[in-house]
Amino acid sequence: MDVRVGDLLQMKKPHPCGGNTFLVGRVGMDFRIKCQTCGHEVMVPRAKVEKNIRKIIRDGAEVEKAPKKAPPSREQERQK
Ligand SMILES: [Zn+2]
Repeated sequence: MDVRVGDLLQMKKPHPCGGNTFLVGRVGMDFRIKCQTCGHEVMVPRAKVEKNIRKIIRDGAEVEKAPKKAPPSREQERQK
């Protein structure tokens, strides 16, 4: 998953303060993310962050998530 410094992450699991939007301050083995509701900064392992991301917001727009493998087209199956 492509996460960059300055991205806003909307998480599935909210911070104890109730906010679920975090600003990315640093990426690497661990991410440093800052809760946009209470301003608390936390270091979280990359794997844990990625599992928790609902949305990535960059420059005010939602970033498309990495495309998964395209499922086989139903139209083509029907034509058999
Ligand atoms: Zn918070």
